[in-house]
Amino acid sequence: MTATLPHSLYRADASGRFGEFGGAELPPPLVAPIAEVAAAYAEASQDPAFQDQLQSLLARYVGRPSLLYFAENLTRHLGGAKIYLKREDLNHTGAHKINHCLGEALLAKRMGKTKLIAETGAGQHGVALATAAALVGLECEIHMGAIDVAKQHPNVVRMELLGATVVPVEAGGRSLKEAVDSAFGVYAAAPDEYFFAIGSVVGPHPYPSMVRDFQSVVGREARAQILAEEGRLPDALVAAVGGGSNALGLFDAFLEDDDVRIIGVEPAGEGLDGDRHAATMTLGTPGTLHGMRTKVLQDADGEPSAVHSIASGIDYPGVGPQHAHLEQIGRVEYVTATDAETLDAFQLLTRQEGIIPALESAHAVAHVVELAPTLPGDAIIIANLSGRGDKDVDFVADRLRAAE
Ligand SMILES: *Cc1c(COP(=O)(O)O)cnc(C)c1O
Repeated sequence: MTATLPHSLYRADASGRFGEFGGAELPPPLVAPIAEVAAAYAEASQDPAFQDQLQSLLARYVGRPSLLYFAENLTRHLGGAKIYLKREDLNHTGAHKINHCLGEALLAKRMGKTKLIAETGAGQHGVALATAAALVGLECEIHMGAIDVAKQHPNVVRMELLGATVVPVEAGGRSLKEAVDSAFGVYAAAPDEYFFAIGSVVGPHPYPSMVRDFQSVVGREARAQILAEEGRLPDALVAAVGGGSNALGLFDAFLEDDDVRIIGVEPAGEGLDGDRHAATMTLGTPGTLHGMRTKVLQDADGEPSAVHSIASGIDYPGVGPQHAHLEQIGRVEYVTATDAETLDAFQLLTRQEGIIPALESAHAVAHVVELAPTLPGDAIIIANLSGRGDKDVDFVADRLRAAE
């Protein structure tokens, strides 16, 4: 963020650093274009007209505020703290990503760009961005590994129906990593036309701060909602962490409330003792990835590791730099949930509450299952339900049949 905001432990310094993490570690052709984004965002974030425009779309189009739902059945079943769910799954497009995609699209428009460009893995970011592009009136170009294009067919169809161009990337492993390089290559060659829209609180400054700011509406709403409903702040917040945007979105408004425990949940996949996981905060080491200093799951040469999670939206070998900092200063705890625990939590929430969560969000629910019974009945937990599980139902049904 900028020097015009009061500096705090919870804001980046002028160079985009959160303690030793963050910054903008860029190849020379990208330095000026990304600095232009930082300058434009610094201005927009202080402009009431920009903020009003975004707030208006969040209310009229996304359907905000999202509900803060008291999960009474789940609470009774687990026998401990009262469990509230922040229902980002009820947003238009079914997840939290639309919050920051609209922010990025409005900023692109303000900067006079004509095209949004991004990479996508499972396609969730691509669909949310194509939606924002259609609404705001921008072209949209999504780079996607050829393997992912085949695997994520329904999302490819959605993006194309929304008017986006999907570019299959045939280089190397034909996956997310190559899609990132491909999209950045196109962007670097024509930064006057394109706005690069990153899909989480990752990448070079200003993206980790900017995407957090766009998502912070989640926590501001939750804070007001719990105060109205219970007359006090919660005892604990729980959210799944991939890159970390839905988590920081919920956490940001509570960071200065020292009595609120804050917990991020990472994918332990098939277990932390093998290499089939994506537990970057838990097992990663400091490194440089996608333009930022952060914690990274990497090999001895600094190459990012192959990662795994049952939830494709959180299998990322890095993490937002602010998370690495929040752990280092002892403000946020990071725990893990395995694929198996996540599948159990997915079914439990579905059966108890009639709410089918995204597998990403089910990681947060898995930790609630562990935490709630250890707390007294007058304690309060808020978990972020980052998205709905419609995209995951066939996969889960297959897994359950195979396990029978
Ligand atoms: C993409 C996605 C995530 C992971 O991204 P974060 O930046 O870590 O929030 C989590 N939940 C859902 C539903 C997603 O689509």
